[in-house]
Amino acid sequence: LVSRKRRPEDTVISVKGMEIGNGNPILIAGPCAVESYEQTASVADAVTKNGVRLLRGGAFKPRTSPYDFQGLGVEGLQILKKVADEYNCAVISEIVHPQDLDMACEYLDIIQIGARNMQNYELLKAAGRLNKPVLLKRGLAATLDEFINSAEYIMSQGNGQIILCERGIRTYERATRNTLDITAVPILKQETHLPVFVDVTHSTGRKDLLLPAAKAAFAIGADGVMAEVHPDPAVALSDAAQQMNIEEFQRFVEELVSSRFLK
Ligand code: PEP
Ligand code: MN
Repeated sequence: LVSRKRRPEDTVISVKGMEIGNGNPILIAGPCAVESYEQTASVADAVTKNGVRLLRGGAFKPRTSPYDFQGLGVEGLQILKKVADEYNCAVISEIVHPQDLDMACEYLDIIQIGARNMQNYELLKAAGRLNKPVLLKRGLAATLDEFINSAEYIMSQGNGQIILCERGIRTYERATRNTLDITAVPILKQETHLPVFVDVTHSTGRKDLLLPAAKAAFAIGADGVMAEVHPDPAVALSDAAQQMNIEEFQRFVEELVSSRFLK
């Protein structure tokens, strides 16, 4: 169902008046995790002032260590919804449990399925029964064929509103947090009719590489880019090292606009 051979036209996904996948470059920005109303609202204020209308923020965080901040859960989703209403933007957040999907749909405009759950087939099938766009991230060690099959799991249940997101894969290289597989973008665009995004934060794990990675993503045909922004990254409860502060984010957007990757 996701194959380009079966459906030659691009899938375009409408979210709060935004068209994703119609050739108009999209930016998803926001904190790694929702930490408080004030923190989320201050990021929303900054990103919307820079023309971004899709805010991210994790509420259910899949952390490597069980002792690290696990997210605010439902309260985090409630904060996102409040901020979305106040700043007239759309919101996306990761859901990790099939039982939480229906509840989450009341708060979110897009459901994110994270890298660690790309092959959680029960979660994929449950997301496939929703009438809500799903952003599916590539697994940490998933081939593109496995990635495409995971999207197929969602679509097989009836939900065709899927965005694919390359977020870097595990390799032997340690210079970056993961290795951004940039040619995944044109391959996924050729093989499927779905919008393809690149997460520059989790793929590189390095602030100095966010801008070049975003330029590369748009240049190679990505429909959108995801990046993390925090009002004070030094005290962030997760991913402190690679989130941009608000000034850095402003420069990031300006650079993408002046190099004509963003409008
Ligand atoms: C995220 O986007 O918050 C995240 C945890 O990313 P990933 O699933 O790609 O690691
Ligand atoms: Mn993060």
